[in-house]
Parts: sequence; C-alpha cells; structure tokens
Amino acid sequence: MRIDLHSHSYYSDGFLSPTELLDLAKNHGCEALCLSDHDTTNGLDEAQIAADKNGIKLIHGVEISALWQNQTVHILGIDVDKTNPILQAGLKKHQDFREIRAQEMAKGLLRSGIKQAYEKSRELARNPEKSTMLTRTHFAQMLIKEGVCKNMNAVFKRFLTGNKPGGVLPQWQEMVEVVDWIRQAGGIAVMAHPFRYRFSRAKVGRLLTAFKAAGGQGVEVVTGNSDEGEIKLAAALARQHDLLASAGSDYHGWQGEYRQLGRLKPMPETLKTVWDNISII
Ligand code: AMP
Ligand code: MN
Ligand code: MN
Ligand code: MN
Repeated sequence: MRIDLHSHSYYSDGFLSPTELLDLAKNHGCEALCLSDHDTTNGLDEAQIAADKNGIKLIHGVEISALWQNQTVHILGIDVDKTNPILQAGLKKHQDFREIRAQEMAKGLLRSGIKQAYEKSRELARNPEKSTMLTRTHFAQMLIKEGVCKNMNAVFKRFLTGNKPGGVLPQWQEMVEVVDWIRQAGGIAVMAHPFRYRFSRAKVGRLLTAFKAAGGQGVEVVTGNSDEGEIKLAAALARQHDLLASAGSDYHGWQGEYRQLGRLKPMPETLKTVWDNISII
C-alpha cells in the first residue's frame, strides 16, 4: 500500500492547494495521504473533499513546531481530531507568533537593505484568502525571486536563522506541551525528520528519550530525503526507543524540490508502523 504521512499545502508553506495535492497523490498512486501543514489544520476540509472525490484515504494531520532545549523541533500530529479545542488553542498561539515573527524578520532584512520583505513575501500567496500564514519558506522564495539568493539552501545559510539577517528567536511552545495537545486531540505524536536538526547522534538519542517520556509515540524513519544509511539508523532508533515508525515525503511542491509526493524508499519490514495503529483501510 502506498502511504505518505507528511505533506504540505498552501495553507502553510506548500505550493499546491489541498485539491491539487490530492490530485497529485492520485496521480502518484497514493492510497493514503496525511496533510500535515505547519501549525494549522485549515486545509483539511478542502483536502477531505478532494480525497473523497479521488478515493484516497485522507489522514488528518498537522506538523507543530516545538522547543526542546531551546531549539526548534517538528512534531507531527497524525490522525488528530481537528475540532479539539485544546489543539486549536495551541495552534492559535503559534499562528499569532508567526505573524509577529514575520514582521520581525522583515525588520531584520530591512537592516540588510532588503526592502518591503513582508509585503513581497505576502504577494507570493497563491490564494490570499486561504494562504494567510507567512513562513520562512515564503521569505526564502521571495529572496530567490528577487535574485538575492539562488536556492533555499543558500537563503538559510545567509538569512533567517540565528544571528543572521532576518533571524528571530523561536518562541514555540515546549515539546511536552505540544505532545499533550496532539494526544488530547486523539492523535499519534511523531518526531519528524530526526536527522534534520543538526544534532549529534547522542543528542538525537536524548531528544527521543525526552520525547517518549513526554508521551511521544512515533518517529519518522523514512522521509523524502532519507538515504539507506539514514533509514537504517532511524530504524535502530525506533526499536531502541520503542517508537512506531512513520514514513512521509515532506513534499512542499516548490520548484527545484526533489522530494516527490508518495514516492518513498521502503520501510524496514520488522518495524511496528504508525499506520498499523490507525484504521487506514
Ligand atoms: P518556519 O516553520 O516558518 O520556521 O519555516 C521552516 C520551513 O522552512 C521548514 O518546514 C522547511 O520547509 C523550510 N526550510 C528550513 N530550512 C531549509 C533549508 N535549508 N532548505 C530548504 N527549506 C528549508
Ligand atoms: Mn515546511
Ligand atoms: Mn519539518
Ligand atoms: Mn514538513
């Protein structure tokens, strides 16, 4: 069964509408897809209509930013009840911070001579009524469009992180809180892309110990970027920490992205998976 449990639409920092995303999923032979936009579930209603039309099982998800030891990590809430008030109150805090942060990022970029960064990033919204969230991806795409940087990696090397122009101290809620919102909403909390945090191996181990203690239940073992070595390492971590294994492309749909929706390397067979624990079929 072809399953992809991590994807984005233009309700956060993806390029496609939920309808376009589900059409692409159909095209790629996906039987189940989780839409997991950053800090919002607003795309799920449209996604559900498109999923029903295409005969795809849509899993309601969200990718929530969180702080652990003052660093940002991403926690997927898979199969959440999006109407849960605790989850929505939490997400609202992050949505509010994102708006303040966008204005601060623009101020930082202005000091480097980049004018009207906020307005220009907003202009990238494909549907201004629905794409109301401004993420760092929007700022990055704007800097590429303006010819300041060549690609996403170049942007994040020069801007938008740490003390660099446009870098803003992250003020997400703590990992334990975020896991609690997901659990309260009946979801499975999954640590996204464990090797993308630039943590040492030992620190990834400590992160997963803390995550499990907080009520975390799974870890992404196969992502759109994983090579065979990373899959083996992540599989070992899943076993060691007794976490369910997940697989998701983290597809965003921007030009130049090489991840493909629903096209993932296979999951090592002996692992217990997230989809075994939710009724997908
Ligand atoms: P935000 O949640 O607004 O802080 O934006 C984070 C998003 O930026 C991530 O979810 C990625 O989609 C994107 N991103 C971060 N670092 C990079 C990078 N080095 N290359 C490409 N995209 C990145
Ligand atoms: Mn993203
Ligand atoms: Mn992420
Ligand atoms: Mn993601």
